[in-house]
Amino acid sequence: MQVKTTGSKYEFFLEGPISEKTGLYDYVIKNATEVVVDMDKVTFINSIGVKNWISWTMKIPAGCKLQLSRCPFVIINQINMVHGFLPKTATVESFYAPYVCECGTEANLLLQRGKEYEYPHNGEKERLDIPETSPCKKCSKDMEPDFIEKKISGFINPPG
Ligand SMILES: [Zn+2]
Repeated sequence: MQVKTTGSKYEFFLEGPISEKTGLYDYVIKNATEVVVDMDKVTFINSIGVKNWISWTMKIPAGCKLQLSRCPFVIINQINMVHGFLPKTATVESFYAPYVCECGTEANLLLQRGKEYEYPHNGEKERLDIPETSPCKKCSKDMEPDFIEKKISGFINPPG
């Protein structure tokens, strides 16, 4: 794991499986105003990883912004299944959504806040515009989402 600090902003770059061995959980954040967790290289999260994640996020100071960046789809699934995985004040800045083509090709599309979705702000409601198709790089037909949009919307409207 790499850590980058800029003033009161902390950036964590996680790698591999999230488990009891994840160094993030040994990190005590004090006086932070912004915490970014980049999950681009996360492969998997086990149940202890989930438990530790929740207790770690609860220790983040009140008023500190928590942003999750480049989340693999396993994390989006956790957010939708596990109550409290995404604290109410936290946001998902981008995540990878799985698409599949009838030729068997699979791809992960990076969907970004401000583009494909947005949180409620400036009096506007939240928005989720998942692309219905994406061109297949192999056969140039349309790939389709390999998930059900309604089941993943919890990262904008956390369950519970
Ligand atoms: Zn194809």
